[in-house]
Amino acid sequence: MKLGCIADDFTGATDLANNLVRAGMRVMQTFGVPQAALSSDVDAVVVALKSRTIPAKEAVAQSLEALQWLQAQGAEQIYFKYCSTFDSTPAGNIGPVTEALMDALDCPFTIATPAFPDNGRTVFKGYLFAGAVLLNESGMQNHPLTPMTDANLVRVLQAQTQRKVGLIDHTVMAKGSAAISEKIKQLQADGVGVAIVDATSNEDLKTLGPALKNMPLVTAGSGVAIGLPANWNLQASASAAALPKASGYQAIVSGSCSIATQGQVAHYQSLGLPSWQFKPLSWSTHDVPAQIRTQVAQALAWAQPLLGKGPVLIYATTDADTLQQVQAKLGREQAGEWMESALAQVSVGLLQLGVKQWVIAGGETSGACVQALAISQMQIGPQIDPGVPWCYAPQHAAGHLTLKSGNFGTPDFFSKALKLLSETCT
Ligand code: ADP
Repeated sequence: MKLGCIADDFTGATDLANNLVRAGMRVMQTFGVPQAALSSDVDAVVVALKSRTIPAKEAVAQSLEALQWLQAQGAEQIYFKYCSTFDSTPAGNIGPVTEALMDALDCPFTIATPAFPDNGRTVFKGYLFAGAVLLNESGMQNHPLTPMTDANLVRVLQAQTQRKVGLIDHTVMAKGSAAISEKIKQLQADGVGVAIVDATSNEDLKTLGPALKNMPLVTAGSGVAIGLPANWNLQASASAAALPKASGYQAIVSGSCSIATQGQVAHYQSLGLPSWQFKPLSWSTHDVPAQIRTQVAQALAWAQPLLGKGPVLIYATTDADTLQQVQAKLGREQAGEWMESALAQVSVGLLQLGVKQWVIAGGETSGACVQALAISQMQIGPQIDPGVPWCYAPQHAAGHLTLKSGNFGTPDFFSKALKLLSETCT
């Protein structure tokens, strides 16, 4: 293994893996730290944690456990991946995890940049922009868990770390890789341990790549990944994204209520393809789990005769008004948990019916289904839409899957994904 990555959430891990594949690496993503040794021959592994908003001490412990596993598999360089909006608080977790990894790797200097120009995240003079506006004007200032009220990343990171934070600004970036390496030496001589890096284009990220060649630890969003595979002489190639042949039935399981997913469900139905909806508003509040079991059985009985003819969609996706009414009736968190449990049970049933090609919509929904399907690793394949690739779970009967969170994907995502799979993996 060349590159060992630690990601602080599941869908962010896939986003990073997708960028590495597109730049020429064969990549495996794991959910949590694997118990066993790596079984596949790949260039990079992304260990997906759920450590973004847990207490810093736990995030550090989990990240160090992931580091140990990656080192045991021979990782030559470590990449700590966080959100492109730098989601964190003065308590962490970006700063504390970075420092713990630096200590463990005996790494005197590293960089930090969430820049991902393809997704509208750019860093200029140390300030992070989300689209056309500063981070703290982007809506992220109101985030329920990690409100980002300052766009100056040098200040934001300095509040989370003992090490001195510096800046590699756009004037250095414009001079090229050698100038960046010089600047790194100078910053180190000045006692800087971590430097925020400006980047406003993919070109900046590719220029940065060679300057990171011998750095034991890189910390970044998923963008920096596009410049790293070239350090191992790997170039973009279709073979990096090659997956085994697809087989089995096709199903779409959707628990996302995001606007994009609502449009995707409507588009799929407009094609005349079969769908079945959970309607929690009609549930009585008495013994919901029993009602869920009954409805799961109904959904599976509906799906069984259809599976041989083409894909089926089983969904809980609904509009904002209905969602609010359900949440008012059942409680916000409880409603979410019950729906996730229902869709997870549906997945297990569909697996038993022979489904091996999965489109799963919703970040939390994906987590619940992947866990229920006992998927612990997946190989990353071709991109369907930005940030969303096809994947293949090699050690399980579950086969090919794509995990689409929230607002990702074009309206025709469901049918497009299945078409791409039949074109590239048959
Ligand atoms: P996204 O990626 O769009 O945020 P998630 O799966 O992460 O999607 O989150 C959607 C949440 O909404 C999940 O907890 C899911 O169980 C819940 N949910 C989905 N449909 C309904 C519904 N009809 N009523 C109540 N909650 C629902």
